[in-house]
Amino acid sequence: MTRRKHVDALAGIVERTLDAHAVPRARRLLDVELAWIEHAASESLPGEKRPRALRIRRVVETCRDEHLASLDADEGLVALGIPWEEVALAVRRRRRERAIAARRRCPRCESKMETLEVREGSGRSQAIKTHFRCPACGLGTRT
Ligand SMILES: [Zn+2]
Repeated sequence: MTRRKHVDALAGIVERTLDAHAVPRARRLLDVELAWIEHAASESLPGEKRPRALRIRRVVETCRDEHLASLDADEGLVALGIPWEEVALAVRRRRRERAIAARRRCPRCESKMETLEVREGSGRSQAIKTHFRCPACGLGTRT
């Protein structure tokens, strides 16, 4: 697994955790923290002005434990070396892409497209790709 795949896998687990959060207010706070981390990264704020963002950091570390549990020692070392901020930024990026996808309309009949997560490849080269399908006319597109 490449480093990039680890970031993706971690971001996926974090996303699932956020979506499963039962309390909307807590979920909202986590989203605010994600936005703040992205802002800090884009402004390259000095260390002391960096967000503490404790909640999202805790979520990332819990998800990292879950990810680590599925890895051997060598892979685990790679996953451990990824800064939590990098995972948070990847989550933020994925959520934005998802929001854009949610607004996507069918080019044939203008209905709102559904997103499907499709597994492609196998074993270590397996990746989750987003495809779109129109629930009204059945037209399917890839990203
Ligand atoms: Zn359609």
